[in-house]
Amino acid sequence: EAAINRIAAGEVVERPASAVKELVENAVDAGATRIEVVIADGGKTLIRVTDNGCGIASNDLPLALSRHATSKIDGSDLLNIHSFGFRGEALPSLGAVGRLTITSRAQGQDAAVISVDGGRMSAVKPAAVTAGTIVELRDLFYATPARLKFLRTDRAENQAITDVVKRLSMAEPFVTFILRDVSGGDSRTVFRTDSETGDLFDALHGRLRSVLGRDFAENALAIDAERDGFHLTGYAALPTYSRGAAVAQFLFVNGRPVRDRMLLGALRAAYMDVLSRDRHPVAALFVDCEPELVDVNVHPAKSEVRFRDPGAVRGLIVSGLRHALAGAGH
Ligand code: ADP
Ligand code: MG
Repeated sequence: EAAINRIAAGEVVERPASAVKELVENAVDAGATRIEVVIADGGKTLIRVTDNGCGIASNDLPLALSRHATSKIDGSDLLNIHSFGFRGEALPSLGAVGRLTITSRAQGQDAAVISVDGGRMSAVKPAAVTAGTIVELRDLFYATPARLKFLRTDRAENQAITDVVKRLSMAEPFVTFILRDVSGGDSRTVFRTDSETGDLFDALHGRLRSVLGRDFAENALAIDAERDGFHLTGYAALPTYSRGAAVAQFLFVNGRPVRDRMLLGALRAAYMDVLSRDRHPVAALFVDCEPELVDVNVHPAKSEVRFRDPGAVRGLIVSGLRHALAGAGH
């Protein structure tokens, strides 16, 4: 069984950044307003995510670590997925590929801790934590040296983790995100963005300014368009603020970062007449729709999506952006 769990885990956890993604998504799902990620050695020796969300009742700790156990969905509800994870795969997978400890306190309950090492679960013990959850993953892939060998340098893994935290933070402007690197006993803040205020558009603008920089915020057009049950919001930069590579294109579907070819193609198409072929638009765009109009869980570790009506989404992006660009004189 341990071997089967490890193989399945490889599907979900490819590298430290995928573990960070799963843990931060869980914290967001738990309604946290402050999420702190601490890493060491590119996340290979330590990933610790601390949140102030709803916590896990001590009775539920073993359940949270069981395969396919999730509090976010029941069998009758498979099409109605509003939260990030619904597969109940992440925690058991992490417990199969590293040393995992979860310390948590649900409101009105006593704090408790449980750990899993190489797939073996400990008993639940009392712990001290004021509120929320701390998930600590040490020595990722220590039991599977073959996978460990495929990891890249600490620097490259750090970069991937930073990218994941930044992307997730863009979709949650009311949440504070902190990423710290404690390699070698030092503590260095890699990234920090504090919760924004105001309505969603203001907050989003503030968050994008914080994550993507003032130049982006000052050159960005607000996008707000709707069509066939799909809602497009976000900010798209003026053609003059384009890049030489497609490195600053951030797309989200129902609050979840995606890298989807169809969406990127639509973004490109929207700027076709106003950008030369060697320039790339900069944008952070959010597509929202009823969950039954999109499948965001095509593959656990990949951020692909499948729309029921891709043509409608493409049309919405192209026309929504062209309308905004035309309004700005382009
Ligand atoms: P999923 O997110 O798909 O439900 P996970 O394996 O990621 O599956 O998590 C299993 C369960 O553990 C979740 O459904 C949730 O009930 C609980 N959980 C995990 N992380 C947290 C957290 N940070 N705060 C509160 N509950 C959590
Ligand atoms: Mg999850």
